[in-house]
Amino acid sequence: MNDITKTLCPYCGVGCGLEVLPPAQRGKATKRDDLGNPIWQVRGDRSHPSSQGMVCVKGATIAESLDKDRLLYPMIRESLDRPFRRASWDEALDLIVTRLQAVQQQLGPQGICMYGSGQLQTEDYYIAQKLLKGFLKTNNFDSNSRLCMSSAVVGYQQSLGSDGPPCCYEDLEQTDFAFLIGTNAAECHPIAFNRLRKYHKRNPRVKMVVVDPRRTATAEAADLHLAIKPGTDIDLLNGIAYLLMQWGAIHAPFIDECTSHFPEFAQLISEYTPERVAQRCDIPLDSLEEVARYWAESEKTISLWSMGMNQSSEGTAKVRSLINLHLMTGTIGKPGCGPFSLTGQPNAMGGRESGGLSSLLPGYRSVKNPVHRAEVEAFWGLPPGQISPQPGYTAGEMVQALETGGIGLLWVVATNPVVSLPDLERAKAALARSPFTIVQDAYYPTETTEFAHVLLPAAQWGEKTGTMTNSERVVTLCQAFRPPKGEAKPDWEIFAEVARRLGFGDRFTYPNSAAVYAEYVQITQGRVCDLSGLSHELLADGPIQWPYGSLEKHFDPQPNREPNKRLYTHFRFPTPDGRARFGAYHSRGLAEPPDPDYPLVLTTGRLYGHWHTQTRTGRIEKIQQMYPQAFIEIHPRDALKLGVVENDWVDVQSRRGKSRFAVKVTKAIAPGTVFVPMHWGSLWAENAEANALTHSESCPDSSQPELKACAVQLSKVKSE
Ligand code: SF4
Repeated sequence: MNDITKTLCPYCGVGCGLEVLPPAQRGKATKRDDLGNPIWQVRGDRSHPSSQGMVCVKGATIAESLDKDRLLYPMIRESLDRPFRRASWDEALDLIVTRLQAVQQQLGPQGICMYGSGQLQTEDYYIAQKLLKGFLKTNNFDSNSRLCMSSAVVGYQQSLGSDGPPCCYEDLEQTDFAFLIGTNAAECHPIAFNRLRKYHKRNPRVKMVVVDPRRTATAEAADLHLAIKPGTDIDLLNGIAYLLMQWGAIHAPFIDECTSHFPEFAQLISEYTPERVAQRCDIPLDSLEEVARYWAESEKTISLWSMGMNQSSEGTAKVRSLINLHLMTGTIGKPGCGPFSLTGQPNAMGGRESGGLSSLLPGYRSVKNPVHRAEVEAFWGLPPGQISPQPGYTAGEMVQALETGGIGLLWVVATNPVVSLPDLERAKAALARSPFTIVQDAYYPTETTEFAHVLLPAAQWGEKTGTMTNSERVVTLCQAFRPPKGEAKPDWEIFAEVARRLGFGDRFTYPNSAAVYAEYVQITQGRVCDLSGLSHELLADGPIQWPYGSLEKHFDPQPNREPNKRLYTHFRFPTPDGRARFGAYHSRGLAEPPDPDYPLVLTTGRLYGHWHTQTRTGRIEKIQQMYPQAFIEIHPRDALKLGVVENDWVDVQSRRGKSRFAVKVTKAIAPGTVFVPMHWGSLWAENAEANALTHSESCPDSSQPELKACAVQLSKVKSE
């Protein structure tokens, strides 16, 4: 049995444990992919605390993507209209170093920019932060978490004093009431949702409410589905708060002793009468009262959210408005309770811990905070003042900087922005202007490799050992079970090698990723995400939840290991006064509401089988067969108006672009709203890019773009 390797599913933030076995099966024919490569066997790891042996179709088929379309060696081309040629690692890295030095001279540190991904392991993230923010003196490291989780990050920080979901998956099985808003967890976080669904089914007294403009698979499982009008989440949340106040269903001692800014909030919500809210949200009045009643009468309430809240031009305000309800009712820091963001990427959490956004430093530190900068400078052995106090470019600012010539070197790692960024034509035009772009990925081609001057082959899942942290703060060691394909290298090794060639050798010399991790965990000591004391060796015995180190010393006067499962169990928060903060917000509504020219609201989302831009899942036959083409969901009333029926084609036009989809007529979507999945880029279909339509208006606090809603018009494609 010792040929079993324990690892983690590299798709979503649920973070399911996997066991991998060699391809050959005793007494059975070896399974092979369509290229004839033997396929490793993958099954759920029953000992993993988060997933308990369960996996969804993505995790179950992951091994089939290991050998397809791999980038095997570095490639270089002089300009985007020339073909790539094979290069040695030495040639590629020397070229990168020369360009880095030239850009530093011409544009200064601001001219260098890296755009990474929640697919990276924490060790990769950490070395990238050290190189960029510490030694190259630029905070221009952002990642696709900007498109995914940044509103949750800022919402948590502003309300609770620090990032980090306070709950754990066990809470899904201990709650009285689950309130899901802006999340299709049944498709996007299926295994975490399975835990809730099973518990809900077994316990009829437990209530589940889903708030979503679509009747998703998640909504189907709920006791009540509130199909609110897109963009009215804050109205709904404030309306619930109004009723709780009216009914006196608030936890006054908790509010008094553990929170601040309640009076401003109470003042603001006094305007949110039920009639007004029901009308704005376009929901029945009694449904609003029913959901408020669940909040009022449940001792233990957990709320779950993901992109429907985060991907909004008022994402932070939405997140904080939801947290307000937990603060009003004192449902936080206790079993079965709390605001729980479901992270998108497998290691979005590890990225946040290690500083993987342009405003962060490792250990949940901020580049704006002089004490934090000084701590990190001292740790990395840098002169005082070396780390810039200026936050780096967010994903949106990166596009703007490319447009104005502010970036001389762009390094894209393990992500595919040419499908995932909003307002795609603009993003593509900006990328085409980049004087020098490195794309470091496991796969070739992707839509983004088309914009590269240098391609660097990265080792991927199963080919490198490192850690990832899932939505419930569980850190899992992802162990390698085979060597990297071709000449691929782990991402952290590539960053470290560039650092050594730049002359920072002694600070970037590590024998292996365990040594990187050993250094990294020290920098988290005393922080909310305290990992100090953790090691690859310890994690090889099984996953461990953070905070692991000395958190209790900082926030909990009574040492107690239980807080590892939940944060804030002593109702003290890492704010200057130890209190959580209410945030009072009116909704500004959608950044681009429908109008007579563009009368429909387009919302975008994910499907059960696909992952993001299909870089992996597009290469797995079973998943391709599940979704042969991109589609658009249209309500029968809108279909009638347009004169379209199932499987007709429509052109979808926004102010920025046009895409074409096959029609799916369904009452799952409300009249006036249409839905398209975001997975299709130009590699997988012609003109089916959801993000050709979306706009880049972003949340002013989190800079997360409003990928969830834009105004469109539809026209039937006439058959020729
Ligand atoms: Fe992987 Fe997420 Fe599916 Fe679990 S739920 S197997 S982590 S894709």
